[in-house]
Amino acid sequence: MIRIAIDGPGGAGKSSLAKAVAKELGIIYVDTGALYRSIGLYMVKNGISPSDKEAVIAALPDLTLEMKFEDGRQIILLCGEDVGDSIRTPEISMAASTVSAIKEVREYLLETQRSIAENNSVIMDGRDIGTVILPRAEVKIFLTASPEARAKRRFAELTAKGIETTYEDVLREMEERDKNDSTREISPCVQAEDATLLDNSDLTAEQTVKAVIKIVKKEIKRRKKKGSALYMFLRAIVSPIYRFFARVHVSGKENIPKDGGYILCANHLGVNDIFLLGTTYPRQIHFLAKKEWFSVPVLSSVMRALGAIELDRGGRDVGALRNAVDKVNDGGVIAIFPQGHRFPGENPADTPIKSGISLIAYHSKAKVIPVCIKVKNFKYRLFRRIDIIYGKPISFDELGFKNGGYGEFKKAAEIAFDAVCTLGGYEKTPVPENGSEE
Ligand code: C5P
Repeated sequence: MIRIAIDGPGGAGKSSLAKAVAKELGIIYVDTGALYRSIGLYMVKNGISPSDKEAVIAALPDLTLEMKFEDGRQIILLCGEDVGDSIRTPEISMAASTVSAIKEVREYLLETQRSIAENNSVIMDGRDIGTVILPRAEVKIFLTASPEARAKRRFAELTAKGIETTYEDVLREMEERDKNDSTREISPCVQAEDATLLDNSDLTAEQTVKAVIKIVKKEIKRRKKKGSALYMFLRAIVSPIYRFFARVHVSGKENIPKDGGYILCANHLGVNDIFLLGTTYPRQIHFLAKKEWFSVPVLSSVMRALGAIELDRGGRDVGALRNAVDKVNDGGVIAIFPQGHRFPGENPADTPIKSGISLIAYHSKAKVIPVCIKVKNFKYRLFRRIDIIYGKPISFDELGFKNGGYGEFKKAAEIAFDAVCTLGGYEKTPVPENGSEE
């Protein structure tokens, strides 16, 4: 899955660019400006002044807005009716810009925009896609051009549609909208820190498309890369050794996403877990390793080269958690053992667990993949069968997150680890009845 955010001022060519990229990559194009335009249209049609904030807010519950896609074309149904081109007039452009500065309007449209990107690869254009709507978009472009170049293009576009206007009017309206959009208090149109700035004043539409496709393809390639050269090399050496000394069976491979960042949640029997997951898993896994290992001269360099994250087990290591979140946000896979340390010979369902995994899941919004390493009597023995079972990814909502907080983190860690135990068929050992121990 890939999410591409295109932000920038009006008339920079965001929508034609997004359409072309969507077609080339076979993904959905979402024009978020059309949603604001539809709300602007509703107000104008119902005699509500877009600048009358109270009246606009009061009217929101009366309107329904639906977005659907037919043959890749976005259709907006406002109170059940297709808005078509009626949202493209200069009057509605200004109305959209005015209502878009109202916090309640933005909140009203937030979920509609986010939910479409939840399960689809999308390219979305707007003003706050990279900053607010999809802060975890894999590619972010801030597309801009001089006001004159943009007004010239918008004027040609409107004239072609038979809408009567002058270049001067278009330029004036554009500068006014730019000011509104970039200076408003909430979600102003600004470049996201991690967005690529593309000024296409001197580029043709085709050149702009080419430049963006190049950026997107590079990112797709980077995300598909299985791991660093050293990691893959060591993996190739260690794998046959494990295959010789143990009978390893991997199941549930269909639950492993091909790309993107996520968190593996596993039970911890011994150091072998790291090698077993690392050698059987198709992509590089980043493990958290205790900081003492990083003070051993040669080992520390190897650990870093392998992408291990340094963890201070003494307390709550915020730095390590932040590094883990960054890794996941960057499209990496990290493995977490919620038990905190190894429990050979013990039923995982009976051991205590820690909530660090929840913090990473909460802050990265990445899915958690439960994986159970199952061995007879919970102990590794030479030539003994080892099962590695992957379960279905668990989403942010399934982990029960709402506002974060200790209680939610504890519960989410339990949900994730219960899924691991269920994969292995492990249940809590019943507490003996009073007196039965005697
Ligand atoms: O992109 P378009 O020109 O169709 O957007 C119309 C108006 O909607 C913009 O001037 C802007 O004020 C608002 N808008 C927004 N946030 C978005 C998309 C559009 O505020 N994500």
